[in-house]
Amino acid sequence: MCGRNQVEHHHIVSRGQAVYMINIKLNIKPVCIEHHKGSKGAHGNREVDLKYKLEFQEKLFLLFDKDFYSEKEIKEKLETNINEVRKITKKMMFYKEGYKKEELIRRLMGGRIYGEQD
Ligand SMILES: [Zn+2]
Ligand SMILES: [Zn+2]
Repeated sequence: MCGRNQVEHHHIVSRGQAVYMINIKLNIKPVCIEHHKGSKGAHGNREVDLKYKLEFQEKLFLLFDKDFYSEKEIKEKLETNINEVRKITKKMMFYKEGYKKEELIRRLMGGRIYGEQD
C-alpha cells in the first residue's frame, strides 16, 4: 500500500484468467486507484501486473510447503469453503497421495507458472 486512502480490490489472477479465483482471499490485493487502474497500476502497466503475480505465486509456494494436498487441506490453506475448492480441483489430476503442489499452484495462477523473465 502506498498511503493513498481510497482502496480498491484487485484480483491478481483476473476473472478472465481463472474465474474460480474470484472469491479466493489471497488473490485479492487492496490497492489505491492509481496502483489499480492508473499508469502505475496492474491494469495500466504490464510490469506491475507481473510483479503482483510473482508476489502471489511466491506466497503460494511458501504456503503449500509439501508435495501433495487433500481438498480439506487446500480449503484450510486458502481459507475458503469446499465448493470453491472443488471449482479449483475440478480439472486436476488426483493422485493417490492427493493433488500435486506444482499442478495446484499452476491451476491457482490461471494455468501457468510465471518466471522472472516473462
Ligand atoms: Zn484490478
Ligand atoms: Zn497506491
